[in-house]
Amino acid sequence: MKIGIFGGTFSPPHLGHLTSAAQAVEKLRLDKLLLVPAGTPPHKELPPGSPTARQRFEMAAIAADGLRMGDRVQADDLELCREGKSFTADTLALLHERYPQDALWLLMGSDMFISLQNWYHPEQICALAHLAVFSRHGAQDLPQLQTQADHLKETFGARATVLELSETVEVSSTRLREELARGERPAELTDPVYGYILRNGLYGTRADLKHLTDEELRCCSLSMVYAKRHAHIRGVEEEAVRLARHWGADEADARHAGILHDCTKYLSLAEHLAICKEYNVPLDELEQVSEKLLHSKTGAALARHLYGQNEQVYWAIYWHTTGRPDMTLLEKLIYLADYMEPNRDFDGVEELRRLCYEDLDAALTLAFTMSVEELKERGKDIHPNTQGALDWMLTHGKGQSCQ
Ligand code: ATP
Repeated sequence: MKIGIFGGTFSPPHLGHLTSAAQAVEKLRLDKLLLVPAGTPPHKELPPGSPTARQRFEMAAIAADGLRMGDRVQADDLELCREGKSFTADTLALLHERYPQDALWLLMGSDMFISLQNWYHPEQICALAHLAVFSRHGAQDLPQLQTQADHLKETFGARATVLELSETVEVSSTRLREELARGERPAELTDPVYGYILRNGLYGTRADLKHLTDEELRCCSLSMVYAKRHAHIRGVEEEAVRLARHWGADEADARHAGILHDCTKYLSLAEHLAICKEYNVPLDELEQVSEKLLHSKTGAALARHLYGQNEQVYWAIYWHTTGRPDMTLLEKLIYLADYMEPNRDFDGVEELRRLCYEDLDAALTLAFTMSVEELKERGKDIHPNTQGALDWMLTHGKGQSCQ
């Protein structure tokens, strides 16, 4: 295997890092790329009040996941587990032990490469890994980088490749920290990394989580889940707003419920149970062992207690997985938006979409019928609230149709 290692402070990780990393993976045909946040950076003094190393690692993990390259690009916390300065020579030695048969490729931007002869044990670095350097500023740096590559080859026997990237992003973490401290929203941060920064109050941001703008709330929610769920969350938000407009529900409530409905989707069972305990959320036997059922309860709890959402939003999220008998209009809309938002694709989805805008109760009856059938086919327990919701619709569904 060819394994890339991209070290840095990543405080915070930005589009400059990500654009270069993604291109390096393709150009070098790397099987794996590890983003390695420095535990204690040897080359840079961290400003007072900086995020912890763990927080920088978590931001790097969110940024890596956002590249949507699966396991191929991941953040690695190996430097966080070591005492003292995080020297690259030590990191490469550890990675060589971990992957003895594989070729290591150390990636870096021009600023780091130019001073490599001054790093701790450059000869070890050059012996343990190929070097790949890319310019931070476009093509004008390339001759200088090639001269340095030749120098490192003569001095340390380095195997160095100068990568010409088709796209570079002129940005530094330093500039982004300044913008964040001034209350700006830097364009070179991905939404989830920005959301993580807001949730944790990093870099002098002092967002009141209970009074976020829609964009800030969206970023916070996206920062809590894997990138593969982002399109669905955006889809539910858009569909919920369309449905609210159509049926005369509160559009802001629909938007907020759509944004937050899945925010706890990837928590562990223990994390769900801790939230339920903290906010006194009662659970039945089925819910106590099912993350799928729990995520609507814990999502609702965080929507109310962390993000200051109102009762309507709380209950719309609370019931979005099982449903219940006699649902409110907003509860129906969020349940249905989750079921048939534009990214959903299953037999019958077009009919369900049509009904959602013509006869809401018929749509809900169809959705519960399909849900119950699917659960039966898969041999899963049907939650009493879902069966109750279907039974209620079959006896009380009054056909809320569009006039
Ligand atoms: P700071 O502003 O805090 O010094 P930085 O933006 O330079 O941070 P680092 O985390 O220190 O970011 O950099 C990690 C690695 O990413 C280094 O190899 C660096 O050269 C490279 N790098 C940083 N910014 C860019 C960019 N805009 N384009 C390409 N590579 C970059």
